[in-house]
Amino acid sequence: MTCHTGPVRIDLHTHSTASDGTDSPTELVQAAVRADVDVLAITDHDTTAGWAEAAAALPSGLRLVRGMEMSCEGRDEDGRPVAVHLLAYLFDPTAREFANERERLRGERVARLRAMATKMAADGLPIDFDAVMADAGQVVGRPHLARALVEAGVVSSVDEAFAGPLSVRSPYYVEKEDTPLERAVEMVNAAGGVSVIAHARARSRGRLVALDSIRELADRGLAGLEVDHPDHGGSDVDLLRSLATELDLIVTGSSDYHGTNKTIELGQYTTAPESFDAIVARASGVPVLSAPPGDAMTVEDGTAVEDGTTQEATGDLRRIR
Ligand code: AMP
Ligand code: FE
Ligand code: FE
Ligand code: ZN
Repeated sequence: MTCHTGPVRIDLHTHSTASDGTDSPTELVQAAVRADVDVLAITDHDTTAGWAEAAAALPSGLRLVRGMEMSCEGRDEDGRPVAVHLLAYLFDPTAREFANERERLRGERVARLRAMATKMAADGLPIDFDAVMADAGQVVGRPHLARALVEAGVVSSVDEAFAGPLSVRSPYYVEKEDTPLERAVEMVNAAGGVSVIAHARARSRGRLVALDSIRELADRGLAGLEVDHPDHGGSDVDLLRSLATELDLIVTGSSDYHGTNKTIELGQYTTAPESFDAIVARASGVPVLSAPPGDAMTVEDGTAVEDGTTQEATGDLRRIR
């Protein structure tokens, strides 16, 4: 139970073991309760595979927003391609074209991580890609390789791995073919979802998406901007906030919690209730979930979307007891 009194705490960007977090969806929900979070979004990279477990574990008092963080390609100020993450909330997971694109993105992730691991092994680094895959869940990312590098003693921390062998400037870095950002916004909208650009000014990750392309996207159905984020400096927070005002975009704030893969705590950055309400008002894919006192939630079998080794969660929920 979230028993605290005080402002409603809303964290709209978190990861589980369904992608590159270290908490299972059940543990993520439990951690949200401990962190006094009232509204939690589960936003694993390129998958909805954690939705069903998070929903099944939902205690009364905590509301669950089912979402995802989609790997996209945008343009920087010079027109060069740049990785952009698009948060997608409350979309219909059965929308076929969108589901197919998620599956393609997951395939890109595996192929790209294999290519990076192969380059490292060829260079004499003690990295075994099959072992990395065996330890990973449904969606792999550089954090999985980071942990392997730490365990092998190549680097002393995940941060050091990202600053060195895993950085976009490293000779081991390999690109993947992400979804064009405008296409991604269209697909999220077509599935009844709400799209928010994640950490648009996270400078440590590489080049930044052009502000003018955010302006264009705002005309083409983008709903919001993640403004408060651990990777944003103060002046960039101010810049994004005024851009959101200029474009009438929803402002969000979130921790981007990854369990022990990052040092950030759940609920360390939060979203205002008005912004959350605006997201819910725009969504028509799936509802926000909550379990009334004393009740548990369950997932109906319903339809399911194959994602190779696992199933993406698509069933809707009903109350039991
Ligand atoms: P990928 O999705 O494979 O390109 O890997 C990027 C992921 O690594 C993102 O989810 C980031 O949250 C995560 N990441 C980026 N920098 C760091 C860092 N310094 N420490 C831990 N995780 C990071
Ligand atoms: Fe991540
Ligand atoms: Fe991200
Ligand atoms: Zn994230």
